[in-house]
Amino acid sequence: MSKYDYDLFVIGAGSGGVRAGRLAASLGKKVAVAEEYRPGGTCVIRGCVPKKYLVFGAEFGKALKEAKGYGWSADNVRFDWAVLRDEIQTEVSRLSNIYSNILDKNGADLILERAELTGPHTIKLQDSNREVTARHILIATGGTPFMPPIQGMDHAISSNEAFTLEALPERVMVIGGGYIACEFAGIFAGLGCKTTQVYRGDNLLRGFDEEVRDAVTAGQRLNGINVKFGQSPISVKKIGNGLKVTFEDGIQIGTDLIMMATGRVPNTHGLGLENAGVKLNEKGAVIVDAYSQSSVKHIYAVGDVTDRVNLTPVAIREGAAFIETVYKNNPVAYDHGDIASGVFTMPPAGVVGLSEAQAREKHKDVKVYKTSFRPMKNLLSGSEHRCFMKLITTGKKEKVIGVHIVGDYAAEIIQAVGIAVKAGLTKAQFDATCAVHPTLAEELVTL
Ligand code: NDP
Repeated sequence: MSKYDYDLFVIGAGSGGVRAGRLAASLGKKVAVAEEYRPGGTCVIRGCVPKKYLVFGAEFGKALKEAKGYGWSADNVRFDWAVLRDEIQTEVSRLSNIYSNILDKNGADLILERAELTGPHTIKLQDSNREVTARHILIATGGTPFMPPIQGMDHAISSNEAFTLEALPERVMVIGGGYIACEFAGIFAGLGCKTTQVYRGDNLLRGFDEEVRDAVTAGQRLNGINVKFGQSPISVKKIGNGLKVTFEDGIQIGTDLIMMATGRVPNTHGLGLENAGVKLNEKGAVIVDAYSQSSVKHIYAVGDVTDRVNLTPVAIREGAAFIETVYKNNPVAYDHGDIASGVFTMPPAGVVGLSEAQAREKHKDVKVYKTSFRPMKNLLSGSEHRCFMKLITTGKKEKVIGVHIVGDYAAEIIQAVGIAVKAGLTKAQFDATCAVHPTLAEELVTL
């Protein structure tokens, strides 16, 4: 008989927590997964999944306009936000149920309550006021939007609220220049809102390859988004039915909705981690080693709460690596190198490996191959969007260490290219691969 109620107690039923919880339960461990909101976490409930559906929704509008060049007429087209919003929420509920069922099927207890640590092995369940014990604890509580403390911020929304808006506003202002800001500015503009994206820096997507940043900014502008740089809001005021935003330089802009996409912070506030001696970094993230082990031997953390690479598939891999390490006597340190990712703007960006600046900083002999062209589809549709591709190599053998694409299907293409980059293939091996014609991706083997 174990002296603990559970072998494993997972806090957070998102991508990482559910993967780890169900795998541990499938190995015969006694597992509980606590969730204070809805099973599925950021990805399923208010992130990747509903966001991608909104992108699909916006793309239909774009396709309808562009179809004219292909002989289609689509006059009197109407968009009904309530239909899209509600269909997405139905799908989100279906997926959330799948997350619950998968835990149940594997024999894990799903506890729909907030859980907080009261000691190294004890967890308090807030609603039922129960205390349970566990041999191992996994913190998988994800992140939450950061809202800068400026005057009138309560009039602004974060991406959390964007999915369930009562009605689509006429004018939207998105603050920020990262993934979420770029994607949502594209969504709002694509669904017909007059959209302004305001970023305090000088180009969108800081940290990305400079030319990717240029291409994404150009794409946002071609989509009708008013992109403004070098400005940060200092206050928001409600004026009648609208809002007035004042910026540092004194400029005031009117809008109907403000969405702050100013980053996310690890969800550790009030979790009681200090009661167990778990150390956090200055951003509030759980400090972990390569095996996701915290400063307390039997407490681990995976996903956004550790603020390593904040992406769903990474949390899933970290959760699976935790299982190998703790329950299969096979320590696995998940390799965070060369993780491909996509930014779902219109067109999207897909990147893997180093940017040109990072490559030049790290290596002496860097060679860059690139192209920018108007894709054949756009020649008939009249779209001015271009496709940009860049391949970065190093060494005599020209090992490919970075691939960057902005163009239709970029996020799909980069998944496959990511295999080649992860495998350490060379430019010659790319070139030895026969092209698929006519495609956008063929440029990658003919550069
Ligand atoms: P990011 O960190 O990517 O971007 C945050 C943005 O907010 C930056 O432009 C930042 O500016 C700006 N900002 C921060 N603080 C302030 C402030 N006080 N005033 C004005 N602007 C501010 O965060 P996101 O929220 O967009 O995304 C969070 C993470 O979620 C991403 O890093 C990514 O890992 C993940 N994600 C991935 C997606 C995907 O894979 N497609 C989609 C969405 C999210 P500055 O650059 O100057 O710091």
